[in-house]
Amino acid sequence: MRVKAIRRFSVRTVLPEPIAALGELATNLRWSWYAPTRELFAGIDPDRWAAARQDPVRLLSELSASELDELAADESFVARVGAAKADLDDYLQARRWYQEHADGGAQSPASIAYFSPEYGITEVLPQYSGGLGILAGDHLKAASDLGVPIVGVGLFYKTGYFKQSLGPDGWQREDYPVLDPHGLPLSLVTEPDGSPLLITVDMPGEHSLHAHVWRAQVGRVPLLLLDSDVPGNDDAMRQVTNRLYGGGGEQRLQQELLLGIGGIRALRAWSRLTGAAEPEVYHTNEGHAGFLGIERISELTQQGMSFDEALEAARAGTVFTTHTPVPAGIDRFDASLVELYLGGAQELPGVPTERLLQLGAETYEGGASGIFNMAVMGLRIAGRANGVSQLHGVVSREMFDGLWPGFDKVEVPIASITNGVHAPTWVDDRVFGLAREHLGGGDLDVSEKWDEIGTVPGSEVWATKRELRADLVTEARRRLRNSWRNRGASEAELGWTESVLDPDVLTIGFARRVPTYKRLTLMLRDPERLKSLLNHPERPVQLVIAGKSHPADETGKQLIQQMVRFADDPEVRDRIVFLPNYDIAMARHLYPGCDVWLNNPLRPFEACGTSGMKAALNGALNLSILDGWWDEWFDGENGWAIPTADGVEDPDRRDDIEAAALYDLIEKRVAPIFYDTDEDGLPQRWLEMLSHTLSTLGPKVLATRMVRDYTERLYTPAASANAAVMGDGGSGARDLAEYKARIRQAWPSISVDHVEASGVSDSPQVGETLTVDAYVLLDGLEPADVDVQVVTGTAAIDSDDISDWSAHSLDFVESYSDGKSRYSGQVQIGRTGQFGYTVRVLPRHELLEFPSSMGLVANA
Ligand SMILES: *Cc1c(COP(=O)(O)O)cnc(C)c1O
Repeated sequence: MRVKAIRRFSVRTVLPEPIAALGELATNLRWSWYAPTRELFAGIDPDRWAAARQDPVRLLSELSASELDELAADESFVARVGAAKADLDDYLQARRWYQEHADGGAQSPASIAYFSPEYGITEVLPQYSGGLGILAGDHLKAASDLGVPIVGVGLFYKTGYFKQSLGPDGWQREDYPVLDPHGLPLSLVTEPDGSPLLITVDMPGEHSLHAHVWRAQVGRVPLLLLDSDVPGNDDAMRQVTNRLYGGGGEQRLQQELLLGIGGIRALRAWSRLTGAAEPEVYHTNEGHAGFLGIERISELTQQGMSFDEALEAARAGTVFTTHTPVPAGIDRFDASLVELYLGGAQELPGVPTERLLQLGAETYEGGASGIFNMAVMGLRIAGRANGVSQLHGVVSREMFDGLWPGFDKVEVPIASITNGVHAPTWVDDRVFGLAREHLGGGDLDVSEKWDEIGTVPGSEVWATKRELRADLVTEARRRLRNSWRNRGASEAELGWTESVLDPDVLTIGFARRVPTYKRLTLMLRDPERLKSLLNHPERPVQLVIAGKSHPADETGKQLIQQMVRFADDPEVRDRIVFLPNYDIAMARHLYPGCDVWLNNPLRPFEACGTSGMKAALNGALNLSILDGWWDEWFDGENGWAIPTADGVEDPDRRDDIEAAALYDLIEKRVAPIFYDTDEDGLPQRWLEMLSHTLSTLGPKVLATRMVRDYTERLYTPAASANAAVMGDGGSGARDLAEYKARIRQAWPSISVDHVEASGVSDSPQVGETLTVDAYVLLDGLEPADVDVQVVTGTAAIDSDDISDWSAHSLDFVESYSDGKSRYSGQVQIGRTGQFGYTVRVLPRHELLEFPSSMGLVANA
């Protein structure tokens, strides 16, 4: 008979007093990027540390009471625990960059809420599927290091994202092991009486969705995770947070309602229970958490604001980051579904159905009716928005320009902040060790250190790199063997796995999720050509490949199968491996062990990409399509750019062209440099490129650089705007709402009546001054309500377009009884060539974030 539990719960370890601090050291996730704490745990028992998969909570739970007592009696261990705890306390309390920065007099927010549907912090907490989650984890960690007062909000998924394995035929299999939050580095948020904090969101039909809140502590940053698997819920509601990106549209909507609306409620409770400052800024990492804006509008209306005032008040402090130009990456719900959940009897107080639906409506050219678009709502409720690389900013401004009709694309108010990666998490300890030894300790954020990287002896760099490569080879063999056992092979058949890959062969890594645009199988376009590269007699390459396909994506699974079948071929299997279950744990071996990091997305669909940054920080060179961050920072010396066949319409032909370019690069450029060694066996040119990569890319790709950018360019201005609308009982929000209503009403009849120009000769020369008088019809608006601008630039020969333009405001002169007002000003003709100018009218209010924010302009 098999005995099955009807209920299960983990019994938490009780730690003896002298080593009680191990509890906090295990649950504060700083250990995931701080080696000294990991070493403390490893030192308890290295074998069991390995068996516990380097998970401190798990290790502690597996120690018996007598073993714990023994540790508590070991004076030197107790002293080490004490020192580690003092070190953690210091980390948690010290003044850091933000505290110094806040003293600079800027309007620095006391608290910033960061919402994300996924977080990749450590493999111990598998609450992420890919780049978006890893980025969120790195954002929190870097914020902690910088002392930026962020509080994270997310969901706790009972089975996280799936574990990937392969079937005998190479088809992806998914497993969903159930996570027990009690066995994870989480603590339940409770009321003062000890009962769990309960968050509730109303559902249709008098149902309620309840959630408990788990707190993960990420260094200084608390992360609140809502969990619907609680006793008060019926079965369906308990399932809401069962899987990350599982289920269909309706479950996704339920998750997003819990994340956005429930998330705000959790934050309010968190402040009530802990005295934490109320957030002044709300940052949503992609559109999934967008309902947070709706809940905030509802809150503000309950404090006496109208819907329009509340919208202005909520907008001021909201920051929205868009992460993808791929349409499938954007949440779009049937408007009728949203109406079912938030309309009619389900309306949130103060949020009429019709106003809600307008916020997500695709009202622009090419938009669909009856759709509620979360990115569009995100942009409408956020005063500030950004894409995640320069190129992605350009692509996003084009993609969403329908929301700002009449404006040039460069004026679409979506900025760019390029992603970064958290070095202490991703850089191998041995790389850090080498840097410490030769450059001294100290802070990676101090940029002079990066410049000195060239002084580390090449022989040591190369020896370390070999060690890391050898490590990856060992790890890859282990994983490959496990995978083959899962696929049904017997031990006796697996001898060959002992010798796959070679620690001295040029190693190329390719790992990422497997949506089509990432083109996992581009390298298989010409299998014979690839084989000849792998088996080159003098200059072979080897490939380590990994990636999960979304469970519902059959195409992705086919690509994986195709890759696996290729790698199964005895002719090449020593040189190419597909390793199942790409996750943080694998990534931490993969990046350091690779010499080259390959990325070949279909440009421009890779919004940023971050794995190449992690590889670069570990001394790998990038070989990538000029997309995302690489488009911005490839400099000819830090790796190679795979030429893109942009504009070639036939996708097959485009793939053929780009794949051929990839093979050529590997064969003719990459491998020759790698194998061109001097009498000491050192590839001098390669080492130069590596050192150049670290010293120039190093400081740029850091998540601390990214979080500083967010703080200075978005959070601080958003906090100022928030203060301006909320101050004096919300008078700013009232002014702004009243102003916008007036402007919207008047705008259809605002026009530039005519323009008079004088001051330039018949054949104008550089330096001459043009005087412009513009007569504008204001239809009852005050002259100061608008900004009248002259726009000058280079006129196209064959059209009226002006390029390279700049705008200058004209001064109001006088109004006339016929309703016209005159604005006047002068511009200098600053360059030769075709000069063109025009006049336009824009809304003007001191609380508007950008001139284009309202999407209104009257062009002459
Ligand atoms: C960094 C990372 C990613 C994201 O990589 P991209 O380059 O953005 O595709 C995905 N998964 C894991 C485990 C990572 O560490």
